[in-house]
Amino acid sequence: MNIDRRTFGFGTLAVSLGLSAAELSAGEKKVMNFEVTKTEEEWRKLLTPEEFYVLRKHGTERAHTSPLDKVYDPGIYKCAGCGQELFTAETKFNSRTGWPSFYTPIDGKVGSTTDRSFFMVRTEVHCSRCGGHLGHVFNDGPKPTGLRYCINGVSLKFEPAEASSSTEQSGS
Ligand code: FE
Repeated sequence: MNIDRRTFGFGTLAVSLGLSAAELSAGEKKVMNFEVTKTEEEWRKLLTPEEFYVLRKHGTERAHTSPLDKVYDPGIYKCAGCGQELFTAETKFNSRTGWPSFYTPIDGKVGSTTDRSFFMVRTEVHCSRCGGHLGHVFNDGPKPTGLRYCINGVSLKFEPAEASSSTEQSGS
């Protein structure tokens, strides 16, 4: 019996999320009113396999694998799917979890849903512009919010602040 690995993986994900295949495929269509909407095939072409898995399939990267986990330079973290600015470096902290962590997103840029997968009730967070899955938010974060936005580095693109301050030096 030849089981296609991709199909099998999708079925496993659907079961773990407690969703039927119909609900999952409906979620991939333009049901949600996000400003940026694309078909599954369009996202697949636009994103790397890792980005697609996390952003569009609610995947989780392995802990301690994101280079952004160790980055604390000033700058902005944007959505790897649509480019929306999501978090600022000032709100990033070391949670020692192995995932980039922030105590708050930029106002209005992150939405949330209840995630009942893996026998837990967690709050899933996603980009408010494209619906791309980012990670989860927990109540054990530092002041001032007490929140910990535990974010997959794969779903973020970091833009360092100095990119806009070196224009006077370059005379080309
Ligand atoms: Fe986005």
